[in-house]
Amino acid sequence: MSDNQAPQGPVITAEMAGTIFTGTYEAASGRVVPVTDKATGEEIFTSVAGNAADVARAAAAAKAAQPAWAALTPVARGDILRKFAALCEQHAEEIGGWIVRETGSIPPKAPFEIMTSAREAIEIAGLTGQPTGHILSSSLTRASYARRIPLGVVGVITPWNSPFILAARVVLPALAMGNAVVLKPDLQSPVCGGYALARLFAMAGVPAGVFTVVPGGVEAGEALTLDPNVNMISFTGSTLAGRKVAENAGKTLKKVALELGGNNAAIIFDDADLDAATSATAFGSFFHQGQICFTIGRHLVHESIAAAYTEKLARRAANLHVGDPNKAQVHLGPIINEKQAAKVEKLVTDSLAAGATAVAGGSRDGLFFKPTVLDGVTPDMPVYKEEIFGPVAPIVTFKTEEEAIALANDTEYGLAASIFTANQTRAMRIAAQMKTGIVHINDQTVIHEVFGPIGGTGASGNGARSGGPSVMDEYSQWQWVTVNETVPPYPF
Ligand code: NAD
Repeated sequence: MSDNQAPQGPVITAEMAGTIFTGTYEAASGRVVPVTDKATGEEIFTSVAGNAADVARAAAAAKAAQPAWAALTPVARGDILRKFAALCEQHAEEIGGWIVRETGSIPPKAPFEIMTSAREAIEIAGLTGQPTGHILSSSLTRASYARRIPLGVVGVITPWNSPFILAARVVLPALAMGNAVVLKPDLQSPVCGGYALARLFAMAGVPAGVFTVVPGGVEAGEALTLDPNVNMISFTGSTLAGRKVAENAGKTLKKVALELGGNNAAIIFDDADLDAATSATAFGSFFHQGQICFTIGRHLVHESIAAAYTEKLARRAANLHVGDPNKAQVHLGPIINEKQAAKVEKLVTDSLAAGATAVAGGSRDGLFFKPTVLDGVTPDMPVYKEEIFGPVAPIVTFKTEEEAIALANDTEYGLAASIFTANQTRAMRIAAQMKTGIVHINDQTVIHEVFGPIGGTGASGNGARSGGPSVMDEYSQWQWVTVNETVPPYPF
């Protein structure tokens, strides 16, 4: 099927309700669960909490389908990914609507997720035209080479906050390298994070069984990490769950890629343009209600400009509108659920009790949390120490460059950092001392570009990287092959 022959009907259809996808939509063994609009609580779809039997079915289908997929030429697989990219564009409006309702994001975030995924597909399709191995030297007169081979079945576990792109950035390279996939999207976002991808990959020509989906929670996630037919787990989510995933995957000796939480610092020096910097850092702390792994969790500000910086950031926060993104033009939608909203509230109230001051926000109306700027934050406070995952900007002051570096690195996480200064030499010197996987100079931390190797260190991940050529290593393994014209002589 060519791009322009793709069916024009909706991507999400009633036949998907209550199913897992193994190549066809099959009734799940696990229980049926409602999917809600996060701003209103209205039920908008029926999904499932897949159980171990569902995962076993999908993994077996993936294992059976993988050899034929791997036998295709890499270029043939790349061509299918290019079709997926075109389909993303074609169906962006419908899928975007699901992203807004299922995750509570504001409408502009949806096309960003979808079109970045399409770009990812095109760039990864390009990698399928790259060399698949090396001709090696040898001490004997034999041919010797190393080639990439697939891992087999890759289990992909994703969170709810950016469900489409966080699945696509893993599934696309896994498929490109000849693997089959079992995707387990979060219970809160199975439509845009699972069913939509199932339909688009099928429309693009991915054969039945090569891409499968089991929506579910911890039970399905644990079953996937333990399933004997699964060879690798790629996990994106919290550090707490990531530790459990690594432990379980270890029991069946799976390769594990972990993309975990963050407590990212922005360092603002006294020579920074404060209007531009606060515009960027307000976005970095408040976009998607602060529910992004890259969110700026700590604003480290030179003491000489702290008052001006705080005043400007507070003014920007106060000007942002919070509400139902389907009903009005707002900057912030709802927090994903009551449990998370209450957690953010507690981190704020405990920090206020410990001596911080709310110079903007500080309260919520149900799931709608006001963008909050906290002044006078110190390293002993909960908002400094923990990943907040809410729209809260804690401000901490520093006196010297050394102190700023020490504060930025004063966390078990190591995802992203940003540095605002007019002095490029200083910025590069500091970047080299950040223990994070990502550093942005004169920009905020919420940046996703398909060309950059995205990933963290320490409690933010085990070295897994999404984006750029590193994905070829992530989703394949090396095989060493030697070829002799005749059997060489041996002393036995
Ligand atoms: P979460 O860890 O609760 O859930 C993530 C996924 O893991 C879900 O699909 C969930 O069902 C599953 N899961 C939970 N426990 C599991 C277990 N024991 N075994 C297997 N699967 C399990 O995280 P969340 O609240 O959905 O997402 C927010 C977290 O994700 C934040 O910490 C955020 O920083 C992180 N995150 C990281 C990145 C990154 O690229 N580093 C990107 C987005 C989100």
